[in-house]
Amino acid sequence: MTIWNDLRKIEELKGDEFGLYRYLLEKFGKRGDKAFFYVREGHVKRYRDFFVVVGNEEYIVDEKFCTCRDFQINLKAKKPCSHIIAVEVAKNLGKYDVIDRYYIDFTSISARRGWRFGAGLR
Ligand SMILES: [Zn+2]
Repeated sequence: MTIWNDLRKIEELKGDEFGLYRYLLEKFGKRGDKAFFYVREGHVKRYRDFFVVVGNEEYIVDEKFCTCRDFQINLKAKKPCSHIIAVEVAKNLGKYDVIDRYYIDFTSISARRGWRFGAGLR
């Protein structure tokens, strides 16, 4: 069982918010706790192209990818960050805002594609 499978198990806890919270804490620790908070407080937005989680900044989540530093640096893109978990929880509970437009952010898209730019180009 990988941690990504643990993420998929969120689906099974549909309708059981308390059980879901406990599961998140158990499996993902403080990231799970934060994810639950994001969903409860309405920080998850679904755009036409991506999910966006609003924290200190706005983070783009696309399946197993997030634009935050925690995901890219601490987790090395191998485990879900709180934003990815939040999107799974939001989908499960149906708790997200739907925004009927595209979220176009060049930095995020280039990061997702693994493009690297020299500091001089920014
Ligand atoms: Zn993230």
